Amino acid sequence: MPRIIGRSRYLRKQPEYRKCARHSGPLGPGPVNGNVMRDVIVVGGGPTGLMLAAELRLHGVDVLLLEREPEPTGQSRALGLHARSVEVMDQRGLLGRFLAHGERVRAGGFFAGLGTSWPEGLDTAHSYVLAIPQAVTERLLTEHAAGLGAEFRRGRTLVGLSQDADGVTVELADGTRDRARYLVGCDGGRSTVRKLLGVGFPGEPARTETLLGEVEVTASQEELASVVARVRRTQARFGTMPLGDGVYRVIVPAEGVAGDRSVPPGLEELKARLRAVAGTDFGVHSPRWLSRFGDATRLAERYRTGRVLLAGDAAHVHPPTGGQGLNLGVQDAFNLGWKLAAEVDGWAPEGLLDSYHAERRPVAAEVLENTRAQTLLLSAEPGTRSVRGLLAELMEFEEVNRYLIEKITAIGVRYDLGEGHPLLGRRLRDVALKRGRLYSLLHAGRGLLLDATGRLSAAGWEDRVDHVVDGSEELDVPAVLLRPDGHVVWAGEDPAELTGRLRSWFGAPAA
Ligand SMILES: Cc1cc2nc3c(=O)[nH]c(=O)nc-3n(C[C@H](O)[C@H](O)[C@H](O)COP(=O)(O)OP(=O)(O)OC[C@H]3O[C@@H](n4cnc5c(N)ncnc54)[C@H](O)[C@@H]3O)c2cc1C
Repeated sequence: MPRIIGRSRYLRKQPEYRKCARHSGPLGPGPVNGNVMRDVIVVGGGPTGLMLAAELRLHGVDVLLLEREPEPTGQSRALGLHARSVEVMDQRGLLGRFLAHGERVRAGGFFAGLGTSWPEGLDTAHSYVLAIPQAVTERLLTEHAAGLGAEFRRGRTLVGLSQDADGVTVELADGTRDRARYLVGCDGGRSTVRKLLGVGFPGEPARTETLLGEVEVTASQEELASVVARVRRTQARFGTMPLGDGVYRVIVPAEGVAGDRSVPPGLEELKARLRAVAGTDFGVHSPRWLSRFGDATRLAERYRTGRVLLAGDAAHVHPPTGGQGLNLGVQDAFNLGWKLAAEVDGWAPEGLLDSYHAERRPVAAEVLENTRAQTLLLSAEPGTRSVRGLLAELMEFEEVNRYLIEKITAIGVRYDLGEGHPLLGRRLRDVALKRGRLYSLLHAGRGLLLDATGRLSAAGWEDRVDHVVDGSEELDVPAVLLRPDGHVVWAGEDPAELTGRLRSWFGAPAA
């Protein structure tokens, strides 16, 4: 008998749930679709779920993605990809597609809106922010995942789930059920999966709220620029940004904190707040999209509960300052994809899947810390404005500027893999090899032994690890072993040490 994890009180109040619950038993009435046991069900087709579905398909995993929205909304909360996410796209051969739809920006201001210049000497081949709307990122990732054979079902809302020793059964709002060996909740900050699991989400509730509107304006460019310059001297949570075709993104502090942020503001509320904060509403009209967001900061207590995992906003929420949430979710998926595929495939060494929580939760905790600091720096309090001024002066020092941008771009991330070579746990930037480039060797998502000595071997792991005899003048090391996500798990030249690392990251050698 499957163990029922439950349905939250929140779900029981939802009209969709009540409709299907009327005629459902504990696990709903419907048969499990076609009695098929899938490998993995991904819940949520945002950037995290899409990236994860693609990574799993790259390893031949049978993936079903369930998404509540019947069609893409076309709305873009995030407007950019940071360096590490651009690297991730490069590592999967997607760079050309993303560059074709984005614009490379090297301006400062990514830490609490401070710093006037982009730092020099960042350890990446992609030292820029790729300005690209979230809707475009989602479209490109959808094409990528679909091209690899992921199955999508739109207009499907998960309302119940249970797990047993062999798999996970999900119940959908339409009364049908599906079953898979594993399930990953990529269903956003209000994650139903997380709530059904009963995973704690400690942190702070929203204390401030900001209105966001994508609107047309009647004010001239000059008026807009001069008002923004004046107001931003005292109010950092206010601004406008041209999006093209006469549309502007406008953000302005809300009057209070709404009980339910899923209810968007009206145009009148946006206008009233603009008049209160800026003294003019710029004649905003014809809204494309109105929304509100808060500064709630929360982190899931655990990323894995048996056969169910959490990724992206489902596992962590924080204010959008610095533009990190989408990037963090895509990088969660990049860390989890190959590990879950290894588990499904049966070659995962002991503890590999649990290393997802061990590696990614501390990274999210750090992002939460930097957004807390940034949020404080945006306050209009006189004392905070003095600290802000001082930090702005410190950011004139190249090293300070670089240190903070390394945090925001995630290129400074180092997983704790114990003592050893300084590269251990870090990802490598793309470097030129004698023949080609490093990242082009990672497109298939396999492990890589990059061996400048020509004396090493990955025999027994050829089905999981490529052995390439080549080197780079930019890498001061005889050989490195990279995981499919490009992180270094060994560096050196000792064959016995290498065999140990191959076993601990890629399982037993083939017989
Ligand atoms: C104003 C604003 C600006 C931002 N700017 C940036 C930025 O510049 N850079 C950045 O990196 N991040 C930014 N973010 C954050 C970013 O938008 C999110 O972190 C990102 O969307 C998270 O992706 P996700 O896939 O984890 O979750 P989501 O994008 O929330 O996707 C979750 C998906 O799950 C679906 N779903 C939910 N429940 C169910 C269910 N029960 N069954 C089936 N499907 C379900 C939803 O329909 C949705 O499609 C910003 C956020 C805001 C509010």
